[in-house]
Amino acid sequence: MELSQIQKNLNHIKSQLGNAKLIAVSKYSPVEDVALAYQAGHKDFGENRVQDLSEKANYFQEHHLDHVRWHFIGHLQSNKVKDLFLIPNLEMIHSVDSLKLLHEMVKRKSFLKKAIKVFLQVNTSHEEQKSGFESLEEIENAILYLRDHSDKFELFGLMTMGPIRTENFENGAEVSFKQLFELSRELNEKFKLNLKLSMGMSQDFSIALKYHSDFVRIGSAVFK
Ligand SMILES: *Cc1c(COP(=O)(O)O)cnc(C)c1O
Repeated sequence: MELSQIQKNLNHIKSQLGNAKLIAVSKYSPVEDVALAYQAGHKDFGENRVQDLSEKANYFQEHHLDHVRWHFIGHLQSNKVKDLFLIPNLEMIHSVDSLKLLHEMVKRKSFLKKAIKVFLQVNTSHEEQKSGFESLEEIENAILYLRDHSDKFELFGLMTMGPIRTENFENGAEVSFKQLFELSRELNEKFKLNLKLSMGMSQDFSIALKYHSDFVRIGSAVFK
């Protein structure tokens, strides 16, 4: 891609976001394009596979692009936790989707050089192929558990995705995003938190903004 095109795409998206922050999802893009986006002034990038993130983060380190902030947004397998924690400039994990994974993260926390921010992923659309917490009880257990490990994990917010395969994605996204918003208010009240919301992708981010999303994760609309 051309730097000018990436710059244009970034400006166009950011002009629609208000106070929400853009995570540019680089999973389908070669690292050279990600470096161009960095050169255009963007610093927050999301990847959904540990191996890909690791390769891109190494490239950034070798080229001294040191102000990058990496966001992991995919399903994290227990056996990849250590590799993820070793990645330089890992900023946030948006996709903590089970207590089992949290336990594994705590077990490996000494591999983290500094504290990272975590989002609990909630399966608001209850689709089987999607991961994420389903019950309030489990989410509350995760919140309490994270409090005991705040030296390395800062509970930062909740994340969700709209339904994947549906005739009318707008309706599905409305329902999912509204549900996450309401859940965050409830938990904020109960646990005295200030949970951020990570929701909205290329096709549905305008709906997510209606429900006060703080972080939109946008891939195709940035790198096209
Ligand atoms: C790929 C991906 C995105 C970005 O999707 P686009 O449709 O390319 O904007 C956002 N969130 C997650 C979890 C993803 O896997």
